[in-house]
Amino acid sequence: MSQFKIATKCVQSGYSPKNGEPRVLPIAQSTTYKYDSSVQMAKLFDLEEDGFFYTRLANPTVDAVEKKIADLEGGVMAILTSSGQAASMYSVLNVCKAGDHLISSSAIYGGTFNLFNKTLRDMGLEIDFCDPDAPAEEINKLFKDNTKCVFTEMLSNPALTVLDLEKWAEAAHSHGVPLIVDNTFPTAINCRPIEFGADVVVHSTSKYMDGHACALGGVVVDSGKFDWKNGKFPMFTQPDETYHGVVYADHFGPAAYGAKIRVHLMRDMGAMMAPQNAFLLNLGLETLHLRMPRHCENAQAVAEFLANDERVAWVNFPGLPGNKYYELAQKYMPNGTCGVVSFGVKGGREAATKFMDSLHLAAIVTHVADARTCVLHPASTTHRQLNDRELEECGVSPDLIRFSVGIEDVSDIIADLDQALSAATAK
Ligand SMILES: *Cc1c(COP(=O)(O)O)cnc(C)c1O
Repeated sequence: MSQFKIATKCVQSGYSPKNGEPRVLPIAQSTTYKYDSSVQMAKLFDLEEDGFFYTRLANPTVDAVEKKIADLEGGVMAILTSSGQAASMYSVLNVCKAGDHLISSSAIYGGTFNLFNKTLRDMGLEIDFCDPDAPAEEINKLFKDNTKCVFTEMLSNPALTVLDLEKWAEAAHSHGVPLIVDNTFPTAINCRPIEFGADVVVHSTSKYMDGHACALGGVVVDSGKFDWKNGKFPMFTQPDETYHGVVYADHFGPAAYGAKIRVHLMRDMGAMMAPQNAFLLNLGLETLHLRMPRHCENAQAVAEFLANDERVAWVNFPGLPGNKYYELAQKYMPNGTCGVVSFGVKGGREAATKFMDSLHLAAIVTHVADARTCVLHPASTTHRQLNDRELEECGVSPDLIRFSVGIEDVSDIIADLDQALSAATAK
């Protein structure tokens, strides 16, 4: 469906029923698939033919939603995973093994940070974190002979740092390694990183893509643009004995990276998305192009309200002129960034707690980026193990409130904020 506009792709890509078939994407609730001969099945196992044989590797419902997302991002292939965490892990483990080196932006989701800093280090990978705003010369100094990829986040959760994608893509490419971009917060509606040089895009689909907070999921999208034959990636150019010597870069051409995630990592580690969740995700995707502009519009109004309110200490939203990332946001996300606004209430940590407890419409939840307005105080929840100094180091001040603006009527959201601010700052 690549000739269509993105709104049409949201609604229609990935599934086109033939005569008499269900109009709505059916849920193929089956782990397994029937074949007429064992020869035919053997061909599937040898990767000589395409087809479904076990839902850990591929399933018709999951397959349709993968095709839609690949189309939305402008990639050649997408692989849905059980969560965003699994997607980030696969994106890196597809090119890195023990002894290899990974460079990561330091402005990334906390779960990704732990995955890299703890689990992947324990598995023998070397990691260097780098401030995403660092000048190119500083980023370039981090590359080593064993560097295999660079990981970044387009619009970071919760710090709302906007990535200078072209700067990072140039650094990665001049060292012959791919750039991976977590595009969860903007979604493909507001930003398509592949158009600016990303080689791999990952998402937590649990956020705006699902949009209703009902199905956990992740996705890895292969742009099909990276040259895996540049001499640094033997896993793509040398035979894989577990598939009778297939050479991924030859056998799968531009989709080598995506294909290897499916047939190698998914086969061995199995963090597949369930067909039921793919169905729910698809329902969300059918309205993504309607929801994202509304999230952005509501968040812009909320950010402007907060910025003009004397009970508020500070506001961080890349759509506010004067924000540190305003220009980068205009460049990479001209139609809007996302619905998340962070701010501090005068009176610090104590006022923040009082403010949160006084909200009626906005619910206190860990989740972020769905249709219902919700709020989180990281210092007392997700980041509560850290002391104030450690909090500052990871860009989360003790008074930071992460406010995820939903798609309700914005005047109701602002009225709720207004009364909670009064309650929190009352003498
Ligand atoms: C939530 C999130 C993840 C992790 O996704 P899960 O689906 O919760 O595993 C990764 N990256 C970003 C930016 C996120 O917001």
